[in-house]
Amino acid sequence: YVANFSEPDADTEAAERLAYLAYHDPLTNLPNRLAFESQLGQALRLCERENHQLALMVIDLDNFKTINDTLGHHIGDELLQQVAQRLSESVRGSDLVARLGGDEFVVVLPEVESALTAARVASKIQSNLADSYRVTDHVLYATPSIGISLFPIDGGDAGTLLRNADAAMYAAKAAGRNTFRFYDEAMNRRAMQRLALESDLRRALGRNQLELFYQPQIRAADNGLAGAEALLRWRHPERGLVSPVEFIPVAEELGIIAELGDWALQEAARQMVAWRQHGLPVPRVAVNLSPRQFDDPDLADRIEGIITAAGADKAWLELEITESAAMQQPERAIQILRQLRQRGLQVAMDDFGTGHSSLAMLCTLPLNVLKLDRSFVQQLPDSETDAAVAGAVVSLARQLRLAVVAEGVETPGQQQFLADLGCDMLQGYLYARPLPAAEFEAWV
Ligand code: C2E
Ligand code: MG
Ligand code: MG
Repeated sequence: YVANFSEPDADTEAAERLAYLAYHDPLTNLPNRLAFESQLGQALRLCERENHQLALMVIDLDNFKTINDTLGHHIGDELLQQVAQRLSESVRGSDLVARLGGDEFVVVLPEVESALTAARVASKIQSNLADSYRVTDHVLYATPSIGISLFPIDGGDAGTLLRNADAAMYAAKAAGRNTFRFYDEAMNRRAMQRLALESDLRRALGRNQLELFYQPQIRAADNGLAGAEALLRWRHPERGLVSPVEFIPVAEELGIIAELGDWALQEAARQMVAWRQHGLPVPRVAVNLSPRQFDDPDLADRIEGIITAAGADKAWLELEITESAAMQQPERAIQILRQLRQRGLQVAMDDFGTGHSSLAMLCTLPLNVLKLDRSFVQQLPDSETDAAVAGAVVSLARQLRLAVVAEGVETPGQQQFLADLGCDMLQGYLYARPLPAAEFEAWV
């Protein structure tokens, strides 16, 4: 029998072990209630000082008791260990995951940006925990019910937040389990609506719910058709037509705007080919680009590829980028526009006059067209300042040899005024609203 002691360290190791045990749950190794309370207190003080929000989630497994009672504690224990593991993997390292006891867990997101972020994390936890578990030779399900309270709006101290998250957790159980709920009802509604919109939008393309509408652009000189702008619409099964003003920003945030952008371009190119084949004289179509699409280093090649694959001529297509998008990343915008021009595509600056570009910048951008923003058209011809802006934009464009399209032309008075100023093209409800392809054909 041989034993080896290392005397001086035994005490410290034992002390460390004790301290660890005092603050951790021995089954899952997660922080225990004591550790949770002290860390939540610290996080709250920090949030208060820095004016941050914090989210507290209480997570309860829906049928843990049945599993424990019917299959035995050792199976229940192992399930809890796997749940703990999945919970830790669902959040960032800086978030706090703890086990309060039994099948009750908590997650704290310090410095959460918004309720929506908390909702996204809750949704991720929910789907991660809801997947099946393998424990010995059993396949088990342990879906979670999650209640969320937010600091400071749902409570200023740990006790209130915990109580309110608990109440929200019971609301999640009452709503049918395997879901999450915010304590605040209005917050709940907003978060649920937004998450539903996100998941619907992710599937919209695959379900053929996207559509392009076309709005004519008219030559001021002879009222002939100069072209059309392609505008995205989402035909939602329950909500009807959804405006791009609502869903484009969501698509940008979700990182799926490139797919939508590709689809819009491909569809516009396909439509132009079909119109040509039917002898419909649409000289060109303008497609909008999102600034998020600039992140693709091969954007110009990709655009060219899509147009060529559709069998369309590059001269038929124009790409619109908004002035504010160009200003967000000026170097990138110059580079992209150059590449597009080199490939024989035309480029227009959209919403011009609202994006604070410098004249120096404007001269370096290789543009074909300026689109005078409709906010300067609305009050014409009565507003003297808008008349001055419109006149200045037209003469600037003339000097730079760019064509001008006036957006949002709604009245004959505006049409007359803009034509007299020397605008090349006019677009607006006066001629037609954006129309589905078939109606646009009839209109032409
Ligand atoms: P935009 O490119 O400036 O498009 C012009 C908007 O003005 C369109 O709104 C059009 O319906 C509206 N409009 C046209 N004439 C008039 C008028 O006489 N009066 C008024 N009050 N409004 C008029 P829409 O179709 O709702 O599109 C809004 C914005 O969504 C577009 O602004 C564009 O920035 C974006 N968008 C649309 N389709 C796409 C797309 O395929 N890709 C990207 N990235 N953005 C798109
Ligand atoms: Mg546009
Ligand atoms: Mg515009």
